[in-house]
Amino acid sequence: MNQCCIALANAIQENDNPIFYKSFLREYNLKRLPVFAGGRLVSDNSDVVDTLKYCPWCGTEFPKSLRDEWADEVEKKFSVESILDKEELKKVPEEYMTEEWWKKKGL
Ligand SMILES: [Zn+2]
Repeated sequence: MNQCCIALANAIQENDNPIFYKSFLREYNLKRLPVFAGGRLVSDNSDVVDTLKYCPWCGTEFPKSLRDEWADEVEKKFSVESILDKEELKKVPEEYMTEEWWKKKGL
């Protein structure tokens, strides 16, 4: 188990749990839930994520997110102009969409 506790390890495996792990960024995120009122969708910020700094179950501090390092690497190495552009991200090799890139660098 690479996670700090079994509760977190289970949570990130479950599809209905709002906590997920982005391995390529080494980042634990909390998804926003859509809000319904009277059966109608009134707010949907499900594309917004909040980054967690500590495990909600055992309180262990998570390792530093590699979001900035990842963005720097893919912009420089693969001439990605905007990491928010899905077409631009097609230039990024598979290795950079997994934890492989940062493990190789020993981060
Ligand atoms: Zn934990």
